[in-house]
Amino acid sequence: MSLTCPKCGSVILPADIQLLPQRTARCGQCGEVFDFTGQIPKPAPPVEPPRGFTVTNDLSDLVITRRWFPQSLFRKVVYILNWPLCLLMYTPVLALLFPQFIFHTGPNTNQPVSQIGFWIALVFFLGWALFFTYMMIAWTVNRTEIRISSTAVSVCCYPLKWPGESKAVSTTDIDQPFCSRHNSGKGSTSYQVFVLLHSGKRISLVTGLEKPEHARFIAQQIELRFGITDQPVYGELSNFEGYD
Ligand SMILES: [Zn+2]
Repeated sequence: MSLTCPKCGSVILPADIQLLPQRTARCGQCGEVFDFTGQIPKPAPPVEPPRGFTVTNDLSDLVITRRWFPQSLFRKVVYILNWPLCLLMYTPVLALLFPQFIFHTGPNTNQPVSQIGFWIALVFFLGWALFFTYMMIAWTVNRTEIRISSTAVSVCCYPLKWPGESKAVSTTDIDQPFCSRHNSGKGSTSYQVFVLLHSGKRISLVTGLEKPEHARFIAQQIELRFGITDQPVYGELSNFEGYD
């Protein structure tokens, strides 16, 4: 979809559209900043839940559940590399419990099992191993729940806790949900759902989504639930670009 500048009348192609705050855009020809609300298309029709998503009604709440598994290619690689690595990391614990097995020594020999270096290594490796094991289990079994009630939109994950995955926003504060792309330094891309508040503040609701339609689905469910009309927000995933 292209926009037409109300001042100079030039047609701005999708690739050249500069979205600005307050639902305005800038014309590349004459520099005019104009409100384009009247030029945007109607909200997209409801879409089916993407793979890995389920939608249920819990009393009057709408509950969207997203499985963390299956994973992106990055996660698959980490899985393959990490399970044997995790097991290897537990070796010092085995060494402590069964020194005769690891060191080929019996309990009667004076082995340096209690040396300080060994204990530091043990704590380090055990901490590392526990962290990785926790991460791998979370990636396998965890789900993110987005609960849309009449009073709040809340996000949590279960059964394992995960930092930054729990938040709630009061519905009276919400102006508009929107989606955004996040590029990490290493060329991997993920998608996020934000809510724009009436105060102008943006709150990140769900992060780490693999596909743009995942983010759009969540944003759309919030819009449908509260009867919010889809409006472009500065910095959001362009409505003008194609789906992956
Ligand atoms: Zn113009």
